[in-house]
Amino acid sequence: MSRAHPALVVISVDGATPGFARRFGLFRSAAGHPVAALRSVYPSSTAPSHASILTGAPPARHGVVANRYWEGEDASEIRARQEALASLHPYDRLSLRCPSLLDDLLDQGLSVGAVLFPHTFSRDARHPALESCYCLYAPGRRWTIPWEPGGRQAQLVIPCFGEDLAFRLIPQDNGEPLLVHARQRRPLRSGEPTDVVVTVGREKAISFTLALEEATAQEVVLRQTTAVLVLAAGNRSASDWACGPVVPHSRTVEYTANPAHDFHESPSVAWTTTAALDVVAEGPDVVFIRYNQVDHAQEFLYWQATHGDRDTAAEARRQIETVYRQVADGVDAVRAAVPATCPVVVLSDHGIDWVDTHVRPNRILAELGLTEDLVFQGDSNVCYLYGKRGLSSAERDALERLAGPARIRVLTPAELRARGTWHEGRCGTLALQSGPHAEFQYHQGRLVEQVRSASHGFDPRLHVMDGIWQVLQGPDLPTPPSVVEVADVLRTALTRTGGWKR
Ligand SMILES: [Zn+2]
Repeated sequence: MSRAHPALVVISVDGATPGFARRFGLFRSAAGHPVAALRSVYPSSTAPSHASILTGAPPARHGVVANRYWEGEDASEIRARQEALASLHPYDRLSLRCPSLLDDLLDQGLSVGAVLFPHTFSRDARHPALESCYCLYAPGRRWTIPWEPGGRQAQLVIPCFGEDLAFRLIPQDNGEPLLVHARQRRPLRSGEPTDVVVTVGREKAISFTLALEEATAQEVVLRQTTAVLVLAAGNRSASDWACGPVVPHSRTVEYTANPAHDFHESPSVAWTTTAALDVVAEGPDVVFIRYNQVDHAQEFLYWQATHGDRDTAAEARRQIETVYRQVADGVDAVRAAVPATCPVVVLSDHGIDWVDTHVRPNRILAELGLTEDLVFQGDSNVCYLYGKRGLSSAERDALERLAGPARIRVLTPAELRARGTWHEGRCGTLALQSGPHAEFQYHQGRLVEQVRSASHGFDPRLHVMDGIWQVLQGPDLPTPPSVVEVADVLRTALTRTGGWKR
């Protein structure tokens, strides 16, 4: 039998920094304590750090060595698996190579609810006492469809997260097309985005808006916003998660102080809070929630906030603060939904730093004619060489010669081991590290490019990479120095509230 309310709530505000949290006066405890700093792991990125939070182990032991890593696949297969859903495994529960707090909870017969929290879900290993969902996003696009006003209906197929979403467009007398999908019929208007939420089986819901950009005598042009995939990995279906009154996607472009993007927040803060409150209301013993919007805001705005001209910097800081406040309001709504005795912990996985250089290590392989057999993938600051063979010493010399001017250097297994990151079989045959304020990119482009960007994933010894720790309410708990000590403190919290006892 489940208790009526949780015995522990853990909320990750992805990317939240102690500096911003304190400056904005957010996440204050009932006793008035400001937030503490929480050191990350190497690489200080979402998947490795959350894996450490849940397992109490460094990447070398839990095996999540980057936001993207591979294991035994050959280069062509790795290249083919570019789509977000095909490279989700670093966030999957089954990717952990040592037991996690979640395993202990389920083994003790406790129930767990989770929203967007890495390693609390698996598409391949569902557990009856684990209710969770995860989200992915895909960039917005523009669609041009041949069209004849007053003529026959047209077809629109949108490929998204491995699905082909088929729609019909029916001409109406006023010239606007009617969008038809299954039994839904909605007019498409200019300047007035239409919400589209399509479920695919029980597991997937895909959500975005479509707006009419242009209609001529020959064609219609539609604008699609950033798409959100809601992946249901428990008893609730994707429809239960995504088809309520609050849609998962955002209708507007956020973070306008950086005009060089058209990102719509995915999922929205409002949807995350709604999903979190739904989970809390179901009364699981332990709840894990993650908000990812602060991290997005910082990735798009941190360079402008620190390097922009006076007006741009002020506007970027204001937009970052707005997102922190929206998330803090969501956290407060969740806190208000549980009794004052229930421990509510707010933490984050890493910080943020500005980036002025993008480096593409696969360009080096291209220069050396090695792209057939080998591919680099990995994280922002560290990448691993994957493929069925290693490098000859001549190839390795050539690689180091080409990498040097791009501020890249080879990390030896001993160095990776010293950072707690070396995990046999997942770190490829060779690792590269980018220089300060430089970030690896894995899509097409020049070897080195000057950019105005920001990233996590750098050296956790730098304070800018610190996350946050705060106990909003409940018993006094020790402050863990790093994400690796968090699981022990959460165990202490459950012991003190009697959460372990059934
Ligand atoms: Zn993160």
